[in-house]
Amino acid sequence: MLVARAVPEGVMILNPANNVYFMNALASRMLGMSTDDARGLNVHSVLHLANKNAEILSPDQNPIERALGTKQPFASKDYSVLSAGAKVAVSLVVAPDPQSGYSVVTFRDIENELRVQESASELISVASHELRTPMTAMEGYLSLALNPATATIDERGRELLDKAHKEVRRLGELFSDLIDAAKINDGKMIFTLTRMDLTPIVEEAIQRFRPMAQKKGLNLVKAGAANLMPTYFTNIDANAVSEVLDNLLENAVKYTSKGSITVSLAADDKNVRVTVEDTGIGIPPDDLRHIFEKFYRADNGMVREAGGTGLGLYLATERAKAMHGAITAESMEGKGSRFTLVLPRA
Ligand code: ADP
Repeated sequence: MLVARAVPEGVMILNPANNVYFMNALASRMLGMSTDDARGLNVHSVLHLANKNAEILSPDQNPIERALGTKQPFASKDYSVLSAGAKVAVSLVVAPDPQSGYSVVTFRDIENELRVQESASELISVASHELRTPMTAMEGYLSLALNPATATIDERGRELLDKAHKEVRRLGELFSDLIDAAKINDGKMIFTLTRMDLTPIVEEAIQRFRPMAQKKGLNLVKAGAANLMPTYFTNIDANAVSEVLDNLLENAVKYTSKGSITVSLAADDKNVRVTVEDTGIGIPPDDLRHIFEKFYRADNGMVREAGGTGLGLYLATERAKAMHGAITAESMEGKGSRFTLVLPRA
């Protein structure tokens, strides 16, 4: 209790009947009710929770209710509490103790934190847009300099300009990934989900990467009989799925120097799975844990040389989540990797 009084967040302790047993001073202040007045009242009479759209949640939508019912801990930054008539975004934690039956609910005001995040991602987004114009011009001039029809340069000059051209293109990819990450952070990336067959989208992605794979001598194949095209309906945004598949296929080609890349499609009652499997460098377990984080890249020669932003898998996962799906990864160092995009059937 002493600790609860000292922490910089609202703390409530609920008895086994989910009634308020204790509230610290900050919780009282935020909820506008003294501990004595709140004691014995049901948690939902004291703590009014709203979702991102500022709608007050009914008990069946309320994650506190769910956590208390299932005795499973819950943490989220997606909710607000009603405080003196205003909605305050909070970092919410519900920690039920199945043994004693008591539960602890904590909530910390994160309005300032969100404002800082918002202005940071707006800055990134604006800066990336502004920088894109001069960079596109640079890419154009470099292409002209490298084109024998428009310029004359010696071999050494060509080598150096070629390198500059590659770096400018890499910068372009970084900007477009940064803009996408800022959009996703701000909830401004629009996903229009439509019921459609996943098979042709996968086929098209494979076709897009055939030349890149062939150039490296890699065999890019689709598992199963070539003439068999079963339909797999899902609720998806076709562009978003294509972006995800492009990322998985590009990585598979980039991080494989010999062998093959196999794409397969399968489904059970609930989900459709697209698997991209390669015979490449693989990912050590310590890296595998982190590869879906923003900017994370394994620290080895081939990864450094191949180049990339470290944002691809982060963006792919966010896109999958927006379609109620997920991406999983398995890998054996030195043997290869298998990435799976899972999407619910529709
Ligand atoms: P990027 O490829 O631009 O670095 P990603 O977010 O797409 O960024 O991937 C993050 C990291 O995961 C890569 O840098 C690499 O270390 C690892 N990785 C991803 N896909 C593969 C793969 N198919 N084989 C080996 N390593 C991979």
